[in-house]
Amino acid sequence: MTLLLSAVETLPPHLDELRADVRTFLDREVAEGRFTPESDAWLSGIDPEFSLRLAERGWVGMTIPTQYGGSGRSDLERFVVTEELLAAGAPVAAHWIADRQMAPGILRNGTEEQKRTYLPGIARGERYFGIGMSEPDAGSDLAAIRTSAIKTTDGWRISGTKLWTSGAHIATNMVLLARTDASDDRHGGFSQFLVDLPHPQIDIKPIITIDGGHHFNEVVFDDALVPASALLGQRGDGWRQVTQELANERSGPERILSTLPLLRAWARTDAVQTDAAVRSALGRLISRMTVLRQLSISVAQELAAGRNPAVEAAMVKDLGTVFEGDVVETIRAHAGIEPDPHGDEFSVLLAKSILHTPGFTLRGGTNEVLRSIVAKAVL
Ligand SMILES: Cc1cc2nc3c(=O)[nH]c(=O)nc-3n(C[C@H](O)[C@H](O)[C@H](O)COP(=O)(O)OP(=O)(O)OC[C@H]3O[C@@H](n4cnc5c(N)ncnc54)[C@H](O)[C@@H]3O)c2cc1C
Repeated sequence: MTLLLSAVETLPPHLDELRADVRTFLDREVAEGRFTPESDAWLSGIDPEFSLRLAERGWVGMTIPTQYGGSGRSDLERFVVTEELLAAGAPVAAHWIADRQMAPGILRNGTEEQKRTYLPGIARGERYFGIGMSEPDAGSDLAAIRTSAIKTTDGWRISGTKLWTSGAHIATNMVLLARTDASDDRHGGFSQFLVDLPHPQIDIKPIITIDGGHHFNEVVFDDALVPASALLGQRGDGWRQVTQELANERSGPERILSTLPLLRAWARTDAVQTDAAVRSALGRLISRMTVLRQLSISVAQELAAGRNPAVEAAMVKDLGTVFEGDVVETIRAHAGIEPDPHGDEFSVLLAKSILHTPGFTLRGGTNEVLRSIVAKAVL
């Protein structure tokens, strides 16, 4: 059985044509051996050449206005392209963060100079960003960060350590959250910076994951000098800006579809034809995915309308990342094969998906933290 993402009734029909174009391109890429579908490739599938090919078709930085080198397309058009890239397990990690949250973040808060400096390179698939939020003693409690930026006559001097920074080793830039001012308000005194990489006073050290992969890093700022123009938005307004950025970070379909390449590979196996229990387990997962896609589209539509659906995004991310893990566990229980990183395509996919699963409910804010956001809003 071939499992394709169905058209969604709440999306305008013209998007189906775009969906078909992206699918054709991705099928051709796989047929020509340019990439092998992988679960979680949006975080760990780093392939700059693929990013360039995608950008040539106008599918990177889609919502960036044409005056800044983008395609000026809608959030919903970007949503459809994103869904198909995830379904195909395409290696989009190099440009993902730049496209997902930095293009909107710079458009919202950047100066005209920053927009002209950064946005065209994002749309060309050449600029990659790392997110400098978490630190050794500050993850869920982000307001506990200790990295500081001190204003000097020649710019800002930054000191501190960022941790779990995805893609920093290939990034051309980092969006950094640092403390710039003392404040009685726990969420006051933070600012954001656009830091150009590599940098002589910034040391990027690899952290190797359990599967031997390298996408994480520790990033140490040793009194690193950045120009005054690196400040993003208003000094002291960093908390509000970062919260807005997190809505973009948490709300996308990558919080539901990370393991769709595995689900699709399972759907193609003979067991689906011959084993009623397998068909029924697959059917249950597909129906959950269908509902989650509808919820995710509702959040995308709220964002597109300029509203801030932070609570809804938290809810969808919680439900979506639990679903991603359940896909892996269900297949592990029913597929009747051993996960094997050196085996056939399906067992490799399963093995890699298992090793990636612990991260699903942690990254971008843990599910416990998301549930407290939802609980506070409800109560
Ligand atoms: C794959 C992956 C990629 C990542 N990429 C990046 C990145 O690019 N940039 C970046 O800045 N960070 C990144 N992170 C870090 C991520 O944001 C943090 O891991 C996450 O916010 C949790 O922080 P922590 O690891 O410090 O855990 P802690 O905050 O120490 O939490 C430990 C446990 O305690 C629970 N807990 C903590 N506080 C509460 C509370 N108030 N109520 C209930 N339970 C609570 C948590 O839910 C968790 O289970 C990434 C993480 C992963 C797994």
